[in-house]
Amino acid sequence: MRVNITLACTECNDRNYISTKNKRNNADRLELKKYCPREKRVTLHRETK
Ligand SMILES: [Zn+2]
Repeated sequence: MRVNITLACTECNDRNYISTKNKRNNADRLELKKYCPREKRVTLHRETK
């Protein structure tokens, strides 16, 4: 049931993280606060296709 997802920074669109999620528990797009290496600060990262 787990699918691979990519987490992209919502501010610079860099794809910084690869993760997995359970589609049953998280049908919507995941949004997580993550560290962005390009901006050297924590930004909101969103699941991309
Ligand atoms: Zn960024």
